[in-house]
Amino acid sequence: MKTILLYYKYIDVQYPLQQVKWQKNLCLSLGLKGRIILATEGINGTVAGLQEACDAYIREMNNHPLFGGIDFKVSHCIGDPFPRLRVVEKEEITRLGKSPKEISYKDTGIHVTPAQAHDLITQNKELVILDARNNYEAAIGKFVNAVVPDIETFRQFPDYIDNHQDLFKDKDVLMYCTGGIRCERASAYVKSKGVAKNVYQITGGIDRYAQAFPDGYFRGKNYVFDGRIAVPVTNDILGQCGLCSVAADDYYNCLYAGCNKQLIICSGCVEKNRAICSETCQQKILDNPAMMRTTPHKTAQCLI
Ligand SMILES: [Zn+2]
Ligand SMILES: [Zn+2]
Repeated sequence: MKTILLYYKYIDVQYPLQQVKWQKNLCLSLGLKGRIILATEGINGTVAGLQEACDAYIREMNNHPLFGGIDFKVSHCIGDPFPRLRVVEKEEITRLGKSPKEISYKDTGIHVTPAQAHDLITQNKELVILDARNNYEAAIGKFVNAVVPDIETFRQFPDYIDNHQDLFKDKDVLMYCTGGIRCERASAYVKSKGVAKNVYQITGGIDRYAQAFPDGYFRGKNYVFDGRIAVPVTNDILGQCGLCSVAADDYYNCLYAGCNKQLIICSGCVEKNRAICSETCQQKILDNPAMMRTTPHKTAQCLI
């Protein structure tokens, strides 16, 4: 059993490379694996390891002059959710594709707690709920009546907003994402357009909202970017099998081992070895049967 820590902090970091080295040494000494991004605008990480190692990591972070006071999200996983440790410096801690000098976390939207968000949704019938995630995440779980941009990466979010400003004109907008990190600058971007009345964001994202309101306005599963793939919130199945269209919300990798596509497939189709994304991948498996994944590969099975 491994413990997973998920966290981020927006803060001015003068020398990100120095912090990359510090993080690498710290994680190596504790046997933690995962992925950490440092930038001049902060830190974003998901690390996994033994419980004691994660406790020590949190202690070290809290003692650090920049990284104290982080709200770590803790979950548990059977098996290893990450194959290796990767610590890198980038321009942004999550890639909106806009320079932090242009769209800064300091211009972010109004933070609301899950309870305040819940009240806003209940009371404000004019409220526009805006999903700041990608289409494949929202396909298996989202807030009731949320506006869901048809985007495949976060970098497409600004273009979506540019092209749909009328949706937000003079409206209160409540934004959400998985754990809150994307909303910090996505809300700054929406604000920068100057069309919405107020821009709110849920602190801690779906993750914290679902903990506070397991039977609230979020339905389905919360898609996550580690071995867990998706965390069930309610029993609603929002997605459908990409092959036979029955209700389904489990993602599988394409059976062709050279393809990284994830597909929503029902258990019936999985059993029939039909989890293949395209005729191209089908042909590649026929040409070289050794390239077929031996299991549908749902990665590590996790508890939460
Ligand atoms: Zn099916
Ligand atoms: Zn494929």
